[in-house]
Amino acid sequence: MNQDRGLHYEENLLWEKEYSESSGVDLAEPEDIPLRIGVAPREEVGLPQLSEPQVVRHFVRMSTWNYSIDHGFFPLGSCTMKHNPRLNEKLARLSGFAQIHPMQPQSTVQGALELMHELQNWLAELTGLWGVCLAPSAGAHGELAGMMTIRRAHEIQGNSKRKIVLTPDSSHGTNPATAVMCGFEVRSISTQETGRLSVEAFKDALYKTDENGADIAGMMVTNPNTCGLFERNIIEISDLLHKAGGYFYCDGANFNALVGKVRPADFGVDVMHINLHKTFSTPHGGGGPGSGPICCTKDLAQYMPVPRVIKNSKGEYILETKEDRSDTLGTLKAFQGQFGMFVRALSYMKSHGSDGLRQVSEDAVLNANYILSQLKDDYHVPYEGSCMHECLLTDKKQKQYDVTTLDIAKALVEYGYHPMTIYFPLILAGTMLIEPTETESKDTLERFISTMKKIAQDVKDGKNKEFHDLPKSTPRKRLDEVRAARNPVLNYNIAS
Ligand SMILES: *Cc1c(COP(=O)(O)O)cnc(C)c1O
Repeated sequence: MNQDRGLHYEENLLWEKEYSESSGVDLAEPEDIPLRIGVAPREEVGLPQLSEPQVVRHFVRMSTWNYSIDHGFFPLGSCTMKHNPRLNEKLARLSGFAQIHPMQPQSTVQGALELMHELQNWLAELTGLWGVCLAPSAGAHGELAGMMTIRRAHEIQGNSKRKIVLTPDSSHGTNPATAVMCGFEVRSISTQETGRLSVEAFKDALYKTDENGADIAGMMVTNPNTCGLFERNIIEISDLLHKAGGYFYCDGANFNALVGKVRPADFGVDVMHINLHKTFSTPHGGGGPGSGPICCTKDLAQYMPVPRVIKNSKGEYILETKEDRSDTLGTLKAFQGQFGMFVRALSYMKSHGSDGLRQVSEDAVLNANYILSQLKDDYHVPYEGSCMHECLLTDKKQKQYDVTTLDIAKALVEYGYHPMTIYFPLILAGTMLIEPTETESKDTLERFISTMKKIAQDVKDGKNKEFHDLPKSTPRKRLDEVRAARNPVLNYNIAS
């Protein structure tokens, strides 16, 4: 039966389309060509035989299933889903940038290398951290690069007994995972009471197994943290850490709240990664590759990965190699990183300028606080006071009516929104983390707020049963999550 409704099309796999003899191109029957790979195919490969319009419609229809930042509000907390200015895209498509190859002689790509050098300088200026390596391909990859830099520093300085990495219990899962991947042991710091790090809890963790903290390799802290709160004690904490001989790794994913206002080096950071695809607007979430450069202090820069773009005595830009820096931990990946993202990020920085970037963080924080102030009577706010660039709510008030954060998220889908981040951070039950970013208009915020208020009102009005079946208008309805988890169907059976 035809399942299409309105302009929602039900779309089968290409393999399920009606078989025809047509194809996008007409090629002459091949002459007898000797087999080049030495083995003859056992049977027909069975590729779908489709015409160009069939293929085009297939992919265009599927593309309409995807909700994106260009569709509407995308308040995914911790992800900084901001508008990607078209100017960035235009510049990234200039043929001198888009058509070059990483194996070209460096003398033929001086402009591209100069752009990378300039981006390094901007990142150094904005973070106050001198050494920049653009290579990592995502935030988590940057964390790995940063923690490997710390491990390398301890190794070379003969501190191999420093094995423990401290991290708050609210931290992003990639933080402890990275520490473990680097061979460290993770010690969690409790923040439940206030959502912030307290000096006492930090000291407890720092001196737990050695009174001087001589077994501590470092700490991994996100600031502002994953509850959307600025760590007020961060200077005192980083001083204590440094006295004990540890390094401060800052997860820079939330840099959007600080950019242009606070330089992380000033609150004691030794290494941090920057998510270019969050703070500096390059597309993400299925929209493009990530990029997670790291920035570090001058002391640590000798250990970080190669390459970095440097300017030699002849005034040429070159990518340094392992031979140029003997203490480096080496290379992380082939070539120099996601070049297209570098063009977009620098375009974003230069089109805003330093005053514009400051306004980015001010507006992002203002927008989040506006949402918080409008929803604080309808939803439970776990931590008092204002927030930074994202606000945290929970489902405590709705739960007594048997409506949970998951139901609220599904209701948002019904009303045309991508849900906020749900059930993260993990330190509280039923969390909802809402990050509007600076580019949302007042009108968009008002509409979202009124939708959230309507949901809260419907719950109070006893419409709670209806919530469990939402969303209703989407091509796919509510999934049976228990069945999906217990009885996963991992093979796609082509309908015969
Ligand atoms: C997004 C994010 C990361 C990881 O970044 P990816 O680019 O997705 O690998 C790490 N920490 C926090 C707090 C984040 O929000």
